[in-house]
Amino acid sequence: MCDCRKEIEKKLLERFKQQKPDAKNHAVILNGYSYVVRDGFHEKGYMDILTNADYPLKKGGFRNKNETQKMFFSFCPFCGQKY
Ligand SMILES: [Zn+2]
Repeated sequence: MCDCRKEIEKKLLERFKQQKPDAKNHAVILNGYSYVVRDGFHEKGYMDILTNADYPLKKGGFRNKNETQKMFFSFCPFCGQKY
C-alpha cells in the first residue's frame, strides 16, 4: 500500500499552518478512507454514493428515503497503485 494519504495529510497540515499561523494545535484528516476486511485488514479510499428513492410501506403508499453507500477504489486515486 502506498503512503499517499499520510504524505498528502502532511502537506495539507503544513499548508493549513501557513494559512492560520495564529492558531495552534493544527490537525488535518483526509476523509474518504475506511478499513475493509477482505484478504486481510486494509485501509482503502472510497467515494460516498448518495441514493434517493421512494420505498413502499406495508400500510400502503411510499416514503422517500435518502441513503449513503460507499464505493471503494481498486486503485489509489492519487498515484494509481493497486490496493
Ligand atoms: Zn497512492
